[in-house]
Amino acid sequence: MRNDYTDFIMPYQADSELRDFVQSLPKTETHLHIEGACPVEMLRRVDPSKVSPPPPFWADDYRYDSFDTFMKMFRSYAGEVFTSAEKYYEAAQIILGKCHEQNVRYVETSFHSGIFEYIEDDGPTVIRAIKEGAPKGMEVRVFMGIGHDAYVGLTKEAIDDCHNWEELAGVDLHGPEDLPIEDWTPEIWARTRAAGKFNKAHAGEFMGSDFVERMIDELKVSRIEHGVRSVEDPALVARLVREKVGLDVCPISNVKLAVKGIPEMSAHPIRELFDAGVIVTLNSDDPFFFGNTLSEEYYALYQDLNFTKTELLQIARNGFNVSLWDSPEKDACLAQLDAIESNLK
Ligand SMILES: [Zn+2]
Repeated sequence: MRNDYTDFIMPYQADSELRDFVQSLPKTETHLHIEGACPVEMLRRVDPSKVSPPPPFWADDYRYDSFDTFMKMFRSYAGEVFTSAEKYYEAAQIILGKCHEQNVRYVETSFHSGIFEYIEDDGPTVIRAIKEGAPKGMEVRVFMGIGHDAYVGLTKEAIDDCHNWEELAGVDLHGPEDLPIEDWTPEIWARTRAAGKFNKAHAGEFMGSDFVERMIDELKVSRIEHGVRSVEDPALVARLVREKVGLDVCPISNVKLAVKGIPEMSAHPIRELFDAGVIVTLNSDDPFFFGNTLSEEYYALYQDLNFTKTELLQIARNGFNVSLWDSPEKDACLAQLDAIESNLK
């Protein structure tokens, strides 16, 4: 599964028993930026020097010195690959294929709205391309990621039009968290919501718990990407539980981006949030830029945060419970998780 990241000793070397257990779980991935999962094989074709020698951020002990550095890396690598809907299709085949290999059955992925400044294809074409890249039997929902300051030029045109895009699942606020929320943002979130879409927002990664609260109140989202700094405010944690707001958490990403209070995995607040009853899901975020896989996120929880197998089962279950998927196949995944749990006893 890790053959694209050759020669790297990852921190989460699971023994075969743990590996088989995690593999057996039907899983979801509800926080995955498609450009952040940039396929190595496509990069190698456009510029072999980008992946050989391996980029520094794949190393276990690598820490980004700022979000700005991360964004620069992001542009310099992903920008070379995602240049047309056709490339999104090719990338989706590889990325979703790797999810499928890990027994991921449901994926929510986002693409960046800024692409409309330089690609020829329109939003519906990009969304179709991503969905067509999904392997048989996998359910995929596509979101558009929108930065706080994105409302200009051709990106603005796409944002203004996206409530009409039938196959768009919803919008997701992302990018540098400390930029102000401009007046158009709540309007766009309201308009897409009125069109039947499900929206999300990145919050509580670089800004504190107050920003998570603002996103729930101002954008009316019931799913937060990351949200880990919610832990700073017990009243907010209680509210997340009470209002069933889900957090799509990405622990390895948080460690490598040195999110406040998370110098290492053992300090990650997912343990505290889970114990408090918050609905947390487990995700890989930008696997190319963190050198992680979803399975490794499960190993990390087991090895560094003392999650039991029963608790990992609950995490997997949370992913299906927060999903936008409503079908007998989803029920079958949940039944399979129940069956695995009863075999544990
Ligand atoms: Zn993210």
